Amino acid sequence: MESEEIRQLFLDFFAAREHRVLPSASLIPANDPSLLWTAAGMVPFKPYFTGTAEPEHRRVATCQKCLRTPDIESVGKTARHLTFFEMLGNFSFGDYFKEEAIPWAWELVTKRFGLSPEQLWVSVYLDDDEAYHLWRKVGVPEARIVRLGKETNFWEIGVGPCGPCSEIHFDFGPEHSCGPDCGVGCDCDRFLEIWNLVFIQFYRDEAGNYSPLAQKGIDTGMGLERIATVLQGGKTAFDTDLFRDVIEEIAEVLKVDYGAGGDVGRAVKVIADHTRAVTFAIADGALPSNEGRGYVIRRLLRRAIRFGKLFGCEEPFLDRVAVRVIDKMGAVYPELGQQKRHILRTIRIEEGRFLETLSLGTEILNRMIADARAQGQRTLSGEAAFKLYDTYGFPLELTEEICAEEGLTVDRQGFATAMAQQRERARQARETTEYLGERERFYREARDAGIGSRFTGYYALEEPARVLLMVKNGRRVAAAEKGETVEVVLDATPFYAEAGGQVCDTGVFTGPGLLAEIEHVDRPVENIIVHRVKVVAGTLTEGNIVTASVDAPRRKQTARNHTATHLLHQSLKAVLGAHVNQAGSLVAPDRLRFDFTHYEALTPEELERVEAMVNQAILAAIPVETFETTLAEARAMGAVALFGEKYGERVRVVKIGEFSIELCGGTHLKNTAEAGFFKIVTEGSVASGVRRIEAVTGEAALSYINGILRDYQEIAAILKVAPRNLAAAVKALADQVKELARENEALKDRLAAGEVQDLLQRVEVIDGVNVLASRVGTAEMPRLRSLIDVLRERLGSGVFILGGVAEDKVSLIVAVTPDLVKRGLHAGMLVKELAKLVDGGGGGRPELAQAGGKNPAGLEEALRFGRTLVQEKLRGQR
Ligand code: ATP
Ligand code: MG
Repeated sequence: MESEEIRQLFLDFFAAREHRVLPSASLIPANDPSLLWTAAGMVPFKPYFTGTAEPEHRRVATCQKCLRTPDIESVGKTARHLTFFEMLGNFSFGDYFKEEAIPWAWELVTKRFGLSPEQLWVSVYLDDDEAYHLWRKVGVPEARIVRLGKETNFWEIGVGPCGPCSEIHFDFGPEHSCGPDCGVGCDCDRFLEIWNLVFIQFYRDEAGNYSPLAQKGIDTGMGLERIATVLQGGKTAFDTDLFRDVIEEIAEVLKVDYGAGGDVGRAVKVIADHTRAVTFAIADGALPSNEGRGYVIRRLLRRAIRFGKLFGCEEPFLDRVAVRVIDKMGAVYPELGQQKRHILRTIRIEEGRFLETLSLGTEILNRMIADARAQGQRTLSGEAAFKLYDTYGFPLELTEEICAEEGLTVDRQGFATAMAQQRERARQARETTEYLGERERFYREARDAGIGSRFTGYYALEEPARVLLMVKNGRRVAAAEKGETVEVVLDATPFYAEAGGQVCDTGVFTGPGLLAEIEHVDRPVENIIVHRVKVVAGTLTEGNIVTASVDAPRRKQTARNHTATHLLHQSLKAVLGAHVNQAGSLVAPDRLRFDFTHYEALTPEELERVEAMVNQAILAAIPVETFETTLAEARAMGAVALFGEKYGERVRVVKIGEFSIELCGGTHLKNTAEAGFFKIVTEGSVASGVRRIEAVTGEAALSYINGILRDYQEIAAILKVAPRNLAAAVKALADQVKELARENEALKDRLAAGEVQDLLQRVEVIDGVNVLASRVGTAEMPRLRSLIDVLRERLGSGVFILGGVAEDKVSLIVAVTPDLVKRGLHAGMLVKELAKLVDGGGGGRPELAQAGGKNPAGLEEALRFGRTLVQEKLRGQR
C-alpha cells in the first residue's frame, strides 16, 4: 500500500463514521504564540479541549503536518523518529469515548490495513481498567497488553484537560530484542509505536488534583510514516515510498551508496528528513533566522549541509533534494507547488550563507584547538563543542572529526550535559507559557457562567447596551465611580477588539449623568469583549443600560488603512510574485505597516509600480464586500488564507471586486475610493527574508505630501529660486562647495609651505645642534605633526618645539631626532616640563611627544623655557 492510499484509507474510514475530514493546519500554530510548531494532530483543536472555543463538529479526522524539534538528534539513530512527519488522527470533542475509539482503531489496523494481530501489542495506563477490558473485548490476548506508567501513557500539559493513553505497537520479532528485559516501551528497535490513543477525561488544577471532566474527549495520533514502514515491509520510514526519490537524489549528489548503511546511511537519512522539514516549514511561512522558528529552520538546514560535507560535498545541493520532496508531496500539499520558487530560493540563499559561516566556525574551532593544546589538554571541552554546535551549526561529529585530525578528542559527556541543560531551559520556558493566564481563566469562567457579548460593529457605531460585568483588579465590582478605571463587558458592543493587526476602537459610554472613556478593547476569550474604561463623570453600574459610541472618524481612518493593506498585499503579489506572503501587519488610524516575505529590497521602480497599482484600485472605486462562508467555500473562491488561519468552519471573507479576496475579521471601507490616496512612506528590512512597508492613506497621506512640499518650498526660499528650479540650484550649490573645498586645500598648502620657510629661517644652531622653539599658526595636532615631519626631513637632525593656540587651548609638540636622543635629550620629558607652564599635561616617546594646556598666556614662556632646557642639556648643565 503506497502512502497516498494509506492516508486516504484512514480518512475515509473515519468519514464513514460521521467524522468531518479537515485539511491539515499550518505547521505554524494559529493564535498560539506559546508554541513554535504544530507537533501533533491535536494542536489546532487545543481550544476545543481547553474550552476556550466551541467546535463546529464534534467528530473530526485529519492528516496533520507535524514538526518535532526534540527528535532532531534521534533522526537516523533510532529507526522511528523524524522531525517532520504526518500524523493521522481522529478526534472527539465531548462526543464518543473509549468504547468507540478502541474497537475502531483495532478494526482499522487489523482489518483495513491487514496487520496480523499476533504482531501487535497494546499498552494501557496503570489503572485504566476500562481501556484494558475494551482491548480484551476486541480480542487482544492478556499477554500482549502491558500496563505502563505516566512517562509514556498519560498525557498532560500543566493545568488543563488531560488523561491516560493507550498505544498500539508493532513487533518486529524477538530476534530484534535488545536483551532479556526488552519489552513494549523499550527504546530499541524491536517495538514500533504506531498509534497513540489519548482519552481526555480529567482536569488537572494548579494544586495537581485531577477531577473528572463532564465532556470527555478523544485525541489520537498515528504516524503515517510508521504505518507505511510496517505495511511496506521496511525497517524505517526511509524505506517507504515517501522517501524513495528523495534518498535516490541524495545518494546521487553525494556519490554514496545508501545501501552501505552505517555513517553513510545515517547522513543520507538526516539530509532527507531535514530537507523535508525545511521545505514544509518554509511553505508555511517560516524563514531562516537567528531565533524562534527561524532558528530551527537554520539549524535543520545547517545540520543537513554539514552531514553532506562529511562526504566531501562542498557545493550547495539541498535545493535539488527539496525539488524531489515537492514532486513527491505536492499533490497532497498544494502549498508546496505554489511556493516552489520561494522555497528553493530560500534554501539556496541560506545554504550559500552557511558555507560562508562555516569557514568562520572552522576558524573558531581551530583557535579552540590551539588553546586546548597550549594548556596541554588532549580533549576539547564539552562546552566548547556545544557552543560550536549551537552557534555555528557544527554537528558534534564534525567537531570530533576535525579535532581527531589534530590529535584531540571531544568531551562527549560534557557536550551531552551542556545540551541537557539547554533542553531543560527550553522545557521550563515551554511549561511556564503553557499555563493559561489568570485573566484569561477569569473570563473563561465568566463565560461558562453565561456571560457573553455580541459584536455589532460591522454595521453599527453606536449601540444601547447593558453592562453585564465589571472587573477591577481581578475582582467583580458592582459600580465604578468618577475617576476609576474598570474592565467592562457589555451584552452587545460596536467596539472592535484589537485583532488581526488592526488596533481597537476608542470612544465613549454615555448615559444619564454618565461619561466614560474607552481606552482599550480586547477579547481575552472567544465571545467576550472587554473594554478598559475610565469613568469621567457619574457612575457606571452593573445592570444599567449605556450608549456605547465608537469614535467614528478614527474608525474610518483605520478602515482606510485596512482596506489599503489588502490592496497592498495583492499588488505586492502581482508585482513581485506569488511567494509574497503576509508576515505581520499593523493597521492603525494614522498609518499602516505591512511585513511580507521577500528576499531583497524593492527597487524604486517596483515600489512605484506597487504604489500605482494600489492607487488605480482606489481610483476605480471598487465596492468592498464582506460576507461569511465556510472555509472550504472561501478557499474555492481563491481567498488568501494566512498561515494563521483557523479551523472554525465559518470564516469572514473580504472581497474587493476581482482585485483581492482575503479571510479577515477587520473593519473595512464600503468602497476603495473612500481611501482617497495611498502613499508609501518607507520600505526596509525587518529580518532576513522579511521586508516592511509603511504607508499612509486619506488625510494622513495628504498631510505627509504637504509636509514634504513645505520642506521643499522652504529650501527653495532659502536658495532664492523657484521650486521647479530646485534640483538645478542644489546641483550648482554642490559643485560650488566642491570647488571651494579644492581652493581651500590649495590655500592651506600654500600657507603651510610659507610657514615652513619661515620656521627654517628661525632655526638656531646651539653647540652644533639645530634647535627650534617657535609658535605656529595652528593648534591642530595632525598639522603640527606634519610640520614636524617636514622639519625633520629638511634638516635631518635637531630638536623642534612647536606650539599653537586655538580657542583658549594650547597645543605643544616636541620632536628629538634619534641621534640626539642618544645624547640624552627626551621629547617626553621636555614636553612634561613645558606643559606645566600652560596649565596642562602630556607626554610621549623620546622622539616625539605632545601636550595640551589651558593657558595661552604661558605659551611664549614655555617656548623660551624649552629652548633653555635644550641648551642646558646640550652643555651638560643638567
Ligand atoms: P515515541 O515514543 O516513538 O517518540 P511519542 O510517544 O512521542 O512516540 P506521540 O506523541 O504519542 O508519540 O505521537 C503519536 C504518534 O505520532 C506516534 O504513535 C507515532 O506514530 C507518531 N510519531 C511521534 N513522534 C514521531 C516522530 N518523531 N517521527 C515520526 N512519527 C512520530
Ligand atoms: Mg516522542
